[in-house]
Amino acid sequence: MKLPQFDYEAPTTVSEAVELLAEQLDEASVLAGGQSLIPLLALRLARPAVLIDINGIAELSGVQAADGWLTVGAMTRECAAEELETVAGTVPLLAAALPFIGHEAIRSRGTIGGSLAHADPAAELPAVALALDAEFVVCGPSGERVVPAAEWFQGYLTTARRRDELLTEVRFPAARRGTGVSFTEVARRHGDFAIVGLAASLTLSGGAISDARLAFAGISDVPVRAAGAEELLAGERPSAELFDAAARRATGGIDPPADLHGSSDYRKKVAATLVRRGLRAAADNAYERQ
Ligand SMILES: Cc1cc2nc3c(=O)[nH]c(=O)nc-3n(C[C@H](O)[C@H](O)[C@H](O)COP(=O)(O)OP(=O)(O)OC[C@H]3O[C@@H](n4cnc5c(N)ncnc54)[C@H](O)[C@@H]3O)c2cc1C
Repeated sequence: MKLPQFDYEAPTTVSEAVELLAEQLDEASVLAGGQSLIPLLALRLARPAVLIDINGIAELSGVQAADGWLTVGAMTRECAAEELETVAGTVPLLAAALPFIGHEAIRSRGTIGGSLAHADPAAELPAVALALDAEFVVCGPSGERVVPAAEWFQGYLTTARRRDELLTEVRFPAARRGTGVSFTEVARRHGDFAIVGLAASLTLSGGAISDARLAFAGISDVPVRAAGAEELLAGERPSAELFDAAARRATGGIDPPADLHGSSDYRKKVAATLVRRGLRAAADNAYERQ
């Protein structure tokens, strides 16, 4: 289907984009890679009067590792991040998740900021950002503010970003020594959104787990952190029995949605399997990296 009519603006700086957003407020949508927004327009699920295309804002692209953080510009393409050694070396969980997003053609246009601003609960990057306690930097008419990942995802396709704010960068904490990671998911075909996905990170110190991080995609209208399971894992030595107990703890209280891809009960079983599988893979990865 053809796109609906809209006005088009192409700012070249963040401040210009923020001015335009403030002028247009409820009428405007930001256009990044267009991989989610353009289908929404074509299906008439979004009808903005104005598109503010941020592809020409050079300052929004790029990746920088410094002071224990990886700072990723919102317009950094998913494909570009996937190929950067800085990303794999600093935040291996992000690097592990990126290849699961759609297909290469989609990742060559899709952006890290676009995925996180879109906040699809079945998407990979929101689970990664939540698991790692990433920070979201947004810029609006009154300046910048930083939103922690725990507050960013507010509901289905809804974030803490205000209508007059632009997401400019996302900061991920660098993985500590002894950290192993895995991203695992079950999808109907490679490249489809996950039916259930799991971002997992384990840090081992002296053979015991000093830090455990688990976040699900696809089990709610937002990504979900498995805090109870993380507590259970902390201080313990990796074992199949421990990972079984973590799977029970992580999925005991969840009530995933049902849709044509699977019932709630099916998703719950997949989630438990992914916890066992993801923790095993993260532990193996931690041993390899020591
Ligand atoms: C066939 C297909 C398969 C896909 N499979 C997957 C998948 O398996 N997993 C997955 O995670 N994604 C998948 N995607 C979506 C893809 O990852 C998108 O790239 C991503 O969701 C959105 O990024 P984008 O840069 O294209 O954003 P856009 O589509 O341009 O924007 C998405 C939304 O975010 C807003 N936005 C974008 N950037 C900003 C910003 N800087 N500040 C404020 N608001 C902003 C836009 O206004 C819009 O509402 C798929 C897409 C297609 C077409």
